[in-house]
Amino acid sequence: MIEARGVTVRFGGLVALDDVDLKVPGHAVTGLLGPNGAGKSTLFAVLSGLLKPTAGNVLMEGRDVTRTTPQKRASRGLARTFQHPELFSSLTVREHVVLAYRMRHAKGRIWSDLVTGRGFFPQPAEERIRVDELLAALGLAGIQDRPVAGLPLGTARLLEVARALAVDPTLLLLDEPSSGLDARETEELAATLQSVVTEHGVALLLVEHDVELVLGLSDFVHVLDFGVEIAEGTPEQIRADPVVRAAYLGEEIEPTDARRSGTEQGEPQ
Ligand code: ADP
Ligand code: MG
Repeated sequence: MIEARGVTVRFGGLVALDDVDLKVPGHAVTGLLGPNGAGKSTLFAVLSGLLKPTAGNVLMEGRDVTRTTPQKRASRGLARTFQHPELFSSLTVREHVVLAYRMRHAKGRIWSDLVTGRGFFPQPAEERIRVDELLAALGLAGIQDRPVAGLPLGTARLLEVARALAVDPTLLLLDEPSSGLDARETEELAATLQSVVTEHGVALLLVEHDVELVLGLSDFVHVLDFGVEIAEGTPEQIRADPVVRAAYLGEEIEPTDARRSGTEQGEPQ
C-alpha cells in the first residue's frame, strides 16, 4: 500500500533517519515503535508528504510519490492524524465529522453551505448514517453537540481519528493516537482500530511509544532507535528481541509468558 525505501533524512548534522525501509500492507496493522527522538514522526512526515527525504523513495501501490504533495497522496486514499489534534474550537464534535465527510464526499456543498449561511443541516440520509456510525464507533455520540473548545485531549484525539476515517481512507497513518488517553480510552481506541482494519481492509500504520498498544494491535512491527531500524518482526519476535529490550532498558516490554517464574529477566546492567 505505502512503502519507504532507503529513506534518509538529515537535519543539518543530525541523521534523523538512516536508510530506513518500511512497508505498510493492506488489511493489516503495521506498528512503528521507538523511544523519543528515534525518528518516528520524521518517517511519518515523509510518508504523508509533509517532508521530502534527503535520500530514498516513497511508493504508493508501487508508484513513486516521493515528490508529490500531501493533498495528492490524500486523493489516493491516505488519511492521517497529527500528534496534536487540530480542531476548530467553535464547531461541535458532530460538525467536525460532517466537515471531514464532506471534504471527501461532497466538497462542493461545504462552500455552498458557507456562502448561503445554511449551516450544516439538513443532512442527506447517507451522510447522517455514516456520521452517526463514526460517532458511535469512537464513543462520541453522547457529546456530539458539544463545541470542541475545552474537550479533554483524549476526547479530541478520538475525534481526530473519527475525522480521519470519515474520508473512507484505504491507508490510515496515526501518530501517537494514544497520547493523552487514559487506559479505558486507549482500550476503546484499540478495539475501534482493530475493527476498522478487519471490516474495511484499511492499511494502518500505528506510530507509538506505547509498547503494549503496538504489540497488542499490530501484525508486523518495526522498531527505530536513533534513526536506525534496529528490529522488525511479529509482536512475538519483537518481545523476544534482546536488542529491542535493551533499547527500552528491558522494562517496558513484558514477555508473552508474563507470569514467568523465578530468576530470568533480571534488571539490565
Ligand atoms: P520521534 O517521533 O521518534 O520522537 P522525531 O522524528 O520527532 O522522533 O525526531 C527525530 C530526531 O530528529 C530528533 O533528534 C529530533 O530532535 C530531530 N528533528 C525532528 N524534526 C526536526 C526538525 N524539523 N529540525 C531539526 N531536527 C528535527
Ligand atoms: Mg514523534
